[in-house]
Amino acid sequence: MRVGIGTDVHPIEPGRDCWMVGLLFDDADGCSGHSDGDVGIHALCDALLSAAGLGDIGAVFGVGRPEWHGVTGATMLAHVCQLIDAEGFTPVNAAVQIIGNRPKIGPRRAQAQEVLGDLLGAPVSVSGTTSDGLGLTGRGEGIAAVATALLALK
Ligand code: MG
Repeated sequence: MRVGIGTDVHPIEPGRDCWMVGLLFDDADGCSGHSDGDVGIHALCDALLSAAGLGDIGAVFGVGRPEWHGVTGATMLAHVCQLIDAEGFTPVNAAVQIIGNRPKIGPRRAQAQEVLGDLLGAPVSVSGTTSDGLGLTGRGEGIAAVATALLALK
C-alpha cells in the first residue's frame, strides 16, 4: 500500500463556469487556470501521483505543455489513472475536501462521489468545508482543495 497527498488552490474568476469535483455548478463562479480550474480533481491527481511516486501535477500537465491547455479535470484524472496503472498500482480509495464558501458540496456530494469513483475505479469520498471567513477562501477570493489517495501494488 502507498498513500499520497495533494493540495491545490486557484483564484476565483467571476463569470467563469464552475467545475468542481467533476461537476458543473450553475450557482457559483469557477476558478481561473490553465485547465478548467477544478481544484478538487487537481488535488486528487496530485495525491494519486504522490502515492505512486510519480512526482506532481505540474510535472505531468505543466503550463509549458500546450497540449493540455483547457483540459478538463476528468481528462486529467483519466490520464493520471493510466500513469499509475502503468507504474503497477491500482487505486484502493481516495478522499477530496473542498475548502471555500461556494460551491456548496453537500447537496451534490453523492453525485460527485459517483462521478469521481467511476473515473478512478475506486471509492472517492468528497467533502466540503469553509475557513470561517478567514484567508483567501474565507474572503471568497479562491477555492482550495486537499486530497489523499491510497494505492496498492498490483
Ligand atoms: Mg490546479
